[in-house]
Amino acid sequence: MKKIAILFLVVSLVSCKKENNLSRPPQDLGCDTLILLSTNDVHAHIGNMPKEAAYVQDLRKRYSTVLLLSAGDIFSGDPVVDQYEENGTPKRGFPIIDLMNRLDYLAMALGNHDFDYGKDVLKDRIAQAGFPVLCANADFSGTVLAGMVPEYYTIDTAGVKITFLAFVQTGSSGIPSTHPNNVDGITFAYTLTTDFLNRYTALRNSCDVFVILSHLGVDGDRRLAPMFPQADVIIGGHSHTKLSPAETQSGVLITQAGSNLNYIGQTTLVLKDKKIIEKKNTLVDVSKLTAVDAGIQNRVETYKANSPMNRVIGQATANISGKDALGCLMTDALTTQLGLDIAFTNSGGIRISSIPKGDITMAKIYELDPFENDVVVYNMSLSEIEALLKYACAYGSINYLVSGAKYTYHTSTKTVTLTGYDDVPLSSAKTYRVGMNSYIAETDIPKLYTPPADPGENLYVSTTATVVDYVIAQQQVSPQPQRAFIE
Ligand SMILES: [Zn+2]
Repeated sequence: MKKIAILFLVVSLVSCKKENNLSRPPQDLGCDTLILLSTNDVHAHIGNMPKEAAYVQDLRKRYSTVLLLSAGDIFSGDPVVDQYEENGTPKRGFPIIDLMNRLDYLAMALGNHDFDYGKDVLKDRIAQAGFPVLCANADFSGTVLAGMVPEYYTIDTAGVKITFLAFVQTGSSGIPSTHPNNVDGITFAYTLTTDFLNRYTALRNSCDVFVILSHLGVDGDRRLAPMFPQADVIIGGHSHTKLSPAETQSGVLITQAGSNLNYIGQTTLVLKDKKIIEKKNTLVDVSKLTAVDAGIQNRVETYKANSPMNRVIGQATANISGKDALGCLMTDALTTQLGLDIAFTNSGGIRISSIPKGDITMAKIYELDPFENDVVVYNMSLSEIEALLKYACAYGSINYLVSGAKYTYHTSTKTVTLTGYDDVPLSSAKTYRVGMNSYIAETDIPKLYTPPADPGENLYVSTTATVVDYVIAQQQVSPQPQRAFIE
């Protein structure tokens, strides 16, 4: 019923009320003012939603047209949301959709991480959502998501038509940054060509206000704006950029509100005769908000009390002891869960000495890898990988553990030999997708004499959550033979 109510939402621009007795600094929001509140890359961080709710409700009491939007990536970042279960039945992502329904989100762009739980779970979450989940540059036909993800959403607000069109990022492999299995059967279009964008000219001309909910990242938005200057506003996400002040490119206002619900984007559009005469954006610093919605707070606390940390997520078939074996587990998680060729982790990031045979709790994985570093992926040549390993082994010890390959560092010649598990040398003609934690990417890669040509891509998913997902997927994990050697 809620969904139907929203689909036929009619927002009155005429009957808005102004109150003078306000605690917030005065903004003269007239009757032809439209407020778009937006979040992006919340990544399961529901802790600030009680403050967000209070802020949204406060504005809704004061102004008639307050629309709440998401630019995508609501999942992947907190096991309370990502590993949610109800009576033993997994319902991944359920809590944040429930809270977004209660806050009355109007529409959301699909982000790359919104595919992380797989298509079947995404289908359930979209069905749960009381708002449309949008994506224009994907063809879902023939998949379980067919017919569930509109390209755009138009609302009629007392004669003013507002359209929200959404795009998702595609990486060098032509799909959003998630495991390829999660988007199997879905075809994605690269958005940043005039040919592609021109197909929306008629749609744009059919409405008064045109908003792009973009999960392309700020660099993509900066290229998009000159290619489609007919858009009024881009509400951006994906690059986690705290865009303050917002930018204007080719007349298009480009906004983005950081990540993890540390900020709420507030875009104000002033209209006269259905035409925008003024547009501006500010970021609301959520840490500075004091009011909390008690009902939402209650829900969030209930979800947090249902912590999955003590849940048994799998079994170790034998003791997994020592940096070698634990490093294999951690890096196998990256290659397997993220579809990478090779992965490295630094031995200093392995914080326990063993996982005992038997039950593995989620908490044990958070003890193993408490840092929750992001995963960063580089396309690397063999010589670039060798350069990284030479740096890592320069002091004559094994500093990196590895999945997808074996290596030997030769101290006498200061050279590295890399092979597959079958001892066949890696190919110098090939480019490998190499994953590592953001600690290595930020501290070791910049120190290389010849860093990889590829600047790397932060997947904004934590190594820890990836190991949790791996143990859940495998159910049984075993110690693996040594792969890193020094001689
Ligand atoms: Zn993203």
